[in-house]
Amino acid sequence: MSVFRTRAVACPHCAAIEERSVALSINAARRRDVRAAIIEDRFQRFVCATCARDYSVEGPFFFFDPDARLWIGVYPPRWETSWRALEAELQQAFRSSMIEFAPEIVRADAGEYVVRAVFGLGALRDKLVCFDAALDDRALEVLKLDLMRSAELPFDAATRPRLTAANGALTFDAGVGELRVERPLYDRARAAAAATADAWRGAYVDAGRVLIPGGDPRPVR
Ligand SMILES: [Zn+2]
Repeated sequence: MSVFRTRAVACPHCAAIEERSVALSINAARRRDVRAAIIEDRFQRFVCATCARDYSVEGPFFFFDPDARLWIGVYPPRWETSWRALEAELQQAFRSSMIEFAPEIVRADAGEYVVRAVFGLGALRDKLVCFDAALDDRALEVLKLDLMRSAELPFDAATRPRLTAANGALTFDAGVGELRVERPLYDRARAAAAATADAWRGAYVDAGRVLIPGGDPRPVR
């Protein structure tokens, strides 16, 4: 079931408060329209009535796709400094709902699920595009770190590349512009991801694991 609620939201530009309908939880198998809006970068975009600038509301919400076997916690980007606590909480929630207190029919499928913690709608889109193209997101994050190190891009979490399309070549939004990467570079990153598998264990599979300490306490909403 998908759940939306009206919430008081502050415009990030001028701080004016407005009532907006925002997602608490999305079942993407039933709401293909919402899934498409996320991929097309038009989900939860609003224009402020006071300053006329646009902004997105980037969570928190829960994104569930039982067809694609995805269980994703979506958090506001400013919460990313608490990724360690949020990743642990999300994994515990998954274990409770899908294993410990789940009926046998649900539990039987639990092992097929990908559990991810993401920060912001760009990071969610990145995961959906990645899994749609049957790519390994750990390899993709290794590739991003390679791209950032190769001096083409700043080594900075704020301008991490985000995957926007994968049709043969991979297209990233790299903060400073669009970046196209040929498939063999991804294939090379797969070997590196396999060799460093321990570093990518957990629900937060993002170059931020390396770039952001993440030890802040869990934010209060
Ligand atoms: Zn405003």
